[in-house]
Amino acid sequence: MTRIQVHDVRRSKDGKDIMNLEHIPIEVPTREHYFDVLERCELKSLSASQAWGYGDRTDGVVELAALSKDGGMIEIGSYYGTTKPKSIIKISSQIGCPASCKFCEVGDEKFKRNLTATEMFEQVGMMVQILSSYLPEYSRSPHKINIAGTGEPLLNPNIIDGMKLLMSHNFTLKMCSIMPSSPLVLRNFHELASLASDYHMPIQPQVSLLSLNEEHRRTTAGIRLLSFDELSKLGRSWNERSSIRKQVNLSLILTEDCPIDFEIARRCFSPEYFCFRFRDYVTTSHGQRNEKAQMQSERVLELKEQFRSEGYRVTDDATPTPTEQEWQLASNVTRRRMMVSFGQKIDLKKK
Ligand code: SF4
Repeated sequence: MTRIQVHDVRRSKDGKDIMNLEHIPIEVPTREHYFDVLERCELKSLSASQAWGYGDRTDGVVELAALSKDGGMIEIGSYYGTTKPKSIIKISSQIGCPASCKFCEVGDEKFKRNLTATEMFEQVGMMVQILSSYLPEYSRSPHKINIAGTGEPLLNPNIIDGMKLLMSHNFTLKMCSIMPSSPLVLRNFHELASLASDYHMPIQPQVSLLSLNEEHRRTTAGIRLLSFDELSKLGRSWNERSSIRKQVNLSLILTEDCPIDFEIARRCFSPEYFCFRFRDYVTTSHGQRNEKAQMQSERVLELKEQFRSEGYRVTDDATPTPTEQEWQLASNVTRRRMMVSFGQKIDLKKK
């Protein structure tokens, strides 16, 4: 891959800056690292012409930005290799996002619309098609579908229909949400729990808790969120109904300024209903503009040990792989790089 400073490509056609990414180099794959997607992969509602491949077969990532019929771009990814228990396909749920998470590459973009159930399902079809052409061994392995790309899934009224379509193909499923405070989010969460009570494969809910401080969490997400007490009740309700994955994952994004309060964890998040997932922060350009920096690795290890000694199950599967770290592959980063390098207009939220 060649690294190109983003200021080489960040001007729109009328000569204005379309974004300010000068701190981060953009990586554009060289010819041997990108796949021309089957001469342009066109499904009923999505299309893509290029996917970028990072790493190798032992620690690899394929990501692409798919285009909807009305011109919206979403990210689809595949993560595989010897350290992953399953090959993961990550799909998106919305075009843009109503939340404004300070660390996320899509946090500064306007929300456009919800994806339909078909658009969610087709993302899996598109990625499996790409894998079967270029990495056949991974196209045949069992996939876990993770709804964690562009958008907040529980704010999409079509999410349950999308999940049902995926369930009809026996996928293991995971959904990541920052849990905005909204009746739709609560309704979707309870419907998901009811699907999980009957499904023969695991459905894993993951709450992007971000930190153990409500004020820090709210200002980081830029949207009203459910309180820790409300999340605590949802964890108990999930545990009572889900048949396979009984605990809700709580994901902490480990930035340097991430407050960790064990008293809050003890009071609201019982180890019976919740486990913790630590994700080292992978720098994004939006995160850099918000002065987000990685937590020191010694502190991360110390925190993991402390949580374990408090009786929590702490999973390590979220630790970014060397390939993800080298290419700074946080969610939606490849999508943004492709938008910039293809000259796609980026509609930013008003400040
Ligand atoms: S982290 Fe998720 S909810 Fe937050 S801005 Fe990014 S896509 Fe939206």
